[in-house]
Amino acid sequence: MSRVQGLDRKRLSCARLCFTALLLRNTGVSHGALRVAVQRWSDHCLQRRARGVESFRTRVAWRPSALVNAAPVCRVFSSHGEGCEAGSAPSAQPERDGLLERCQQGRLLSTPQKRRLSQLCDLLLERNRHVNLTAIRTEPEVYEKHFVDSLRFVDIIETLCTGVSGERPRLAASNHFRLLDLGSGGGFPGLVLGIARPSWELVLLDATRKKCDWLREAVEALQLSNVSVIWDRAELAAHKPALREAFDFVVARAVARLPALSELALPFVRIGGYFLAAKEYRREASTVGDVHWPELASAMRSIEANGGRYMRTVATDTDGAPTACSTDMDDHRRVIVIVHKQHPTPSMYPRAPGVPERKPL
Ligand code: SAH
Repeated sequence: MSRVQGLDRKRLSCARLCFTALLLRNTGVSHGALRVAVQRWSDHCLQRRARGVESFRTRVAWRPSALVNAAPVCRVFSSHGEGCEAGSAPSAQPERDGLLERCQQGRLLSTPQKRRLSQLCDLLLERNRHVNLTAIRTEPEVYEKHFVDSLRFVDIIETLCTGVSGERPRLAASNHFRLLDLGSGGGFPGLVLGIARPSWELVLLDATRKKCDWLREAVEALQLSNVSVIWDRAELAAHKPALREAFDFVVARAVARLPALSELALPFVRIGGYFLAAKEYRREASTVGDVHWPELASAMRSIEANGGRYMRTVATDTDGAPTACSTDMDDHRRVIVIVHKQHPTPSMYPRAPGVPERKPL
């Protein structure tokens, strides 16, 4: 029982200690998933008690598939036959699903996908109480600022793949893409894309060990067989043959300014693939192409030196599909910058750790 010492004793007793002990006997249960499961279950018990329902005879059933995969997800049943999956609260699900309605891709998710996002929200909020993964601490914010914001990549990637825009028909033949989430942090956009598109292979890269520990824990708890995690700096990982120019798409959000980020990201992109950077657009004095945006203007040199060509910037903070940005665009809009990889990246890039940020090209 020493592994669960951090848990609130009152909640634990409510959730039945025997349940915890049973779970711990099975190897492979991650501590985080267990804590969330127990807390969810205890909340459920307390709510029922408040409603005057006293009798509980809990039993734990293991899904046969979970045992086979050694990735246990437990189902907990009350004597009345109600069940809840580890980490998700049945009562909160409809409200949470409502938060996904704000975006087209959110509306299109299946019920199991929505449930997985709900589990992810629980796991993240719980883990964030002990490890600083994100400044966002409430459920609606997790949905709006992490989930919906991450889902906005889906439309753009699929448009580029199917060649609807006339630029990229080649990827359409297969639905299997390899994507790298550079500086994944708490798992955004990578974990959300992995849930939304199981046929995409996602690699989440981050330089911070505790973030990678969290990412691995989340991947295991959510049983995301299409997602893997690498703990490394982009400056070093990009020189490894298995990773260099090995991805159809590299996505990044809130990692670095565009000049440095282009040097970190483009070496991973295969020729013909794309680098997509989520950014906050701020209109200022200078002009590049169709966008008044100094950060983008200062990145052109680095984009070209690394074999890329700036394609366009799309606004993603609307309800529907992404739209091309225009010169009269409002300030402070969420945008995604699209860069096409056209030539091999010279072997000197990316430079040594820290140099791309200190001395952008
Ligand atoms: N993409 C996430 C996290 C942003 S915080 C989100 O939008 O929520 C930036 C993350 O990038 C941090 O976790 C940091 O460890 C990682 N990072 C910064 N520079 C990096 C580098 N050179 N190589 C790998 N990861 C890096």
